[in-house]
Amino acid sequence: MPTARSAEFAHAFAVRLMQHLVVPTFVLDAERRVIIWNKACERLTGVTAMEVLGTSDHWQAFYEAPRHCLADILALGSTEELDALYVAHSEPGESTHGLKAENWCVMPKVKKRLYLAIDAGPIFDEDGTLLAVVETLRDYTEQKLAQMALHSLAVKDGLTGLANRRSFDERLESDWLHALREQVPISLLLVDVDHFKLYNDTYGHQKGDSCLKAVAAVLDTQVFRPSDLAARYGGEEFAVIMPTTDLDGALRVADRLRETVMELALPHSASQSDDRVTISIGAASAVPTIDQGSADLIAAADAALYRAKHAGRNRVMGGELVAAE
Ligand code: GH3
Ligand code: MG
Ligand code: MG
Repeated sequence: MPTARSAEFAHAFAVRLMQHLVVPTFVLDAERRVIIWNKACERLTGVTAMEVLGTSDHWQAFYEAPRHCLADILALGSTEELDALYVAHSEPGESTHGLKAENWCVMPKVKKRLYLAIDAGPIFDEDGTLLAVVETLRDYTEQKLAQMALHSLAVKDGLTGLANRRSFDERLESDWLHALREQVPISLLLVDVDHFKLYNDTYGHQKGDSCLKAVAAVLDTQVFRPSDLAARYGGEEFAVIMPTTDLDGALRVADRLRETVMELALPHSASQSDDRVTISIGAASAVPTIDQGSADLIAAADAALYRAKHAGRNRVMGGELVAAE
């Protein structure tokens, strides 16, 4: 039989253990008041136990405005909040009773933006009544930043920061299939810098690279529908995918791009079509049919680009992709 004294001792020991656990941890009671805020949690958040014990102010350690933390959501059973409040989270019920989530936290006290991996687990009494919720935190910032850098390397072009050719290929295929399914138009622009070989020959390869970055920045800022994708197609060629956009819309965007590049007024003394850097654009648009593929859209845009070059450069040409008879 445990005596009252040994039970008291066990309780005091458990609290001490929790206090010195290396994992940042805090505990809420069933009314969502902080009953434990351990040393590691103080170190991580800069907020002391004195400041939060007995209150429901624990959110202040992580966020600037009042909101529920994972332990609150678990205590309240308000799992419908997870999507809006966390970058990533487990599905409720996936792990027995507990919740897992990840989030960027602003940590107002230490003024450090941290990516935290968060676990919340309930503690029930013998009758199944909720006594408390334990929330443990792990600083996952370094791993997250490394993961983001790797992802960026995989999907972005190193020189210009635009989507790379691989992302372009994947996106065009999925957007094409979507347009085919929904029977909506899809447009593609192929953009090519005029007389760029001469530009390199005149100003050197490094200036050439800067010029490509400047043209890419125009694409990045002038292509502003979230569903559009501007990519580096290869060398000095760029591409823009515009889902649910018809030829008229595509030609309007193309002309805006062409004019904005002209307005950069980057000198190109060797160019035979202007005294500054210009681009030519081929546009193609289609409401896809089953016997066509995304490669046909590329071929049509490429043919239009070829016509734009032959018509004197610094211009936009475009056409609809016609269905085979
Ligand atoms: P056109 O007006 O017909 O397009 O003429 P062009 O000289 O631009 O066409 P061409 O395709 O013959 O030349 C493209 C040049 O782009 C050749 C290549 O040296 C240069 N280029 C391709 N990629 C890069 C790059 O990453 N950096 C630099 N600086 N130049 C590049
Ligand atoms: Mg080219
Ligand atoms: Mg060129």
